[in-house]
Amino acid sequence: MYFNDGESVKRFVLIVEDELINREILGNMLRDDYHVLYAVNGLEALDTLRENEGMVSVVLLDLMMPEMNGFEVIEAMRADEVMRHVPIIVLTAEEDAEVRTLNLGASDFIRKPYNMPDVIRARIARTIELSEDRNFIESNERDSLTDLYSKTFFYKYAEMIDKYHPDLRTDAVILNVEHFHLVNEIYGRSFGDNVLKSIAGSMRQFMSDSEGLACRSEADTFFMYLSHHPSYDALIGLIQDGLSSLLENLHVRIRMGVYSKVDHALPMEERFSDARFACNTLRGNYLRSIAYYDMSLREHSIFEEHMVSDIHEGLEKEQFIVVYQPKYDVTGSEPVLSGIEAYVRWNHPAYGMIRPKSFLSVLEQNGLIHLLDRYVITKSVGQLAKWREEISLDVPMSVNISRINLYDGGFPDFLRGQLDSHGMTPADMILEITESSYSSDMRQLIDAVERLRRIGFKIEMDDFGSGYSSLTSLNSMPIDVLGLDAGFVTSIHEDDKVRRLVRLIKDIADYMGVPVNAEGVELASQYDLLREIGCRYMQGYYFTKPLPADEFSIYLADMA
Ligand code: C2E
Ligand code: MG
Ligand code: MG
Repeated sequence: MYFNDGESVKRFVLIVEDELINREILGNMLRDDYHVLYAVNGLEALDTLRENEGMVSVVLLDLMMPEMNGFEVIEAMRADEVMRHVPIIVLTAEEDAEVRTLNLGASDFIRKPYNMPDVIRARIARTIELSEDRNFIESNERDSLTDLYSKTFFYKYAEMIDKYHPDLRTDAVILNVEHFHLVNEIYGRSFGDNVLKSIAGSMRQFMSDSEGLACRSEADTFFMYLSHHPSYDALIGLIQDGLSSLLENLHVRIRMGVYSKVDHALPMEERFSDARFACNTLRGNYLRSIAYYDMSLREHSIFEEHMVSDIHEGLEKEQFIVVYQPKYDVTGSEPVLSGIEAYVRWNHPAYGMIRPKSFLSVLEQNGLIHLLDRYVITKSVGQLAKWREEISLDVPMSVNISRINLYDGGFPDFLRGQLDSHGMTPADMILEITESSYSSDMRQLIDAVERLRRIGFKIEMDDFGSGYSSLTSLNSMPIDVLGLDAGFVTSIHEDDKVRRLVRLIKDIADYMGVPVNAEGVELASQYDLLREIGCRYMQGYYFTKPLPADEFSIYLADMA
């Protein structure tokens, strides 16, 4: 991030590294001082940089990666108007690569393995400092194209507005041209320039009767800091009018994020990152052009930050609880216990008991989910061993695993180690993987799943029907059970269309030669219908809610 009168803000660092373990080590080293973003290959790195335009202070870049390697990332960044200002530190184990990357324009390098955390932290801090000084000196007060302020001066002057008008209620506004690069590509660069100038002109006009200022912060992104306006519809109107006078039927979409009546206690950058946060919620939304920031967005991001920063302590202090739900084979006259599924809960000291939906994706994005999954596997396999011994329970344990585990070469050995230590075999476990995890990187996933199956693990495709797998990909997908998404089950007893869909899914499963497991069964009517359709396995509140281990033992005893 940028200059802020010496005040220190937590900057963003992007770690680009395909090896999970290296990401972890570096991330842990840095997360107290920085907001750490992660990417697992070059393509993802460029996407992340685009998504967080102007926010990332330094990129830590591995050279050897699949998809797009580090050299290619450097070249792509250097060719990009915005990204070329972001300094790069190369992560490498080879000496000759260092020279090559420094020549290409990297600022520094860090040697693997990362055994000197203090040196690493100091080098990163120094690189950021140098690049910010340079960017500040290089920047002019005004943007030459639009004659609006440049970002560094904008922040300074915005702070002056606060200083001289401490009681003025102000808004932070971000304006972004969607797919601006397409405008350039289709109409040419100079037309693109005119679009930007026209937008700047409309902004100036809008501000003419209010206290305020504007800047162009990046190629196609504008900031405004101005006295509070209850609505910005008029600004969108002005901009659209201006653009239509450039070219009739020109379709340029503007996205606007507004943080209204800003909290003056927040640093200026943070107000704009909140406005940007709101703006980003409009991605892919073609019905609205303006999003207003509200506290719940902030609370949500604070919550997510907590999830990430608290997980290590949570694991250490065993705040995670595993609950168990029985699975039944319903083909006979009476349901017969056929398995147990383990779900995780987080008994968080501040937030109370939280369901996985709230933290899974943020832990996945931060490369932390494998820690949790390993914890749950350790606990549930241990618990199964106990039940084996105490009550001779003879069914497998199903665990939900995030796809990230499939990319981790050490995962099969981990699983085996857990089972070995209790004298169990892979046949004692079923791995549930959600359908959506099958949709990206098909080949790699299929390979990983096949490897696990060869060792003897059974794979259940969880939540089938909720994602996007195509029939062709399904055909090549090696699975043992097809888990019908609970969404179908919820309405199967009252919706004929759903019933037909479920029959269709049952046909697909038959074609694949695998049984169907219906989850979320709550009612007898659902149970009857699913049984009639031919679902082999079922689970849900109809039998019982998921229960902690001790209650589950009692449940089993009662059933016996
Ligand atoms: P899932 O594996 O499809 O699990 C089914 C979810 O439905 C569970 O929610 C379960 O508690 C809930 N459920 C079970 N029976 C019924 C019912 O009859 N009615 C209703 N309304 N709900 C029922 P939960 O525990 O919140 O888990 C949500 C998802 O989070 C799971 O979906 C799974 O994909 C994921 N998950 C859970 N535990 C873990 C874990 O340890 N690791 C990973 N990676 N993912 C997990
Ligand atoms: Mg599941
Ligand atoms: Mg499911």
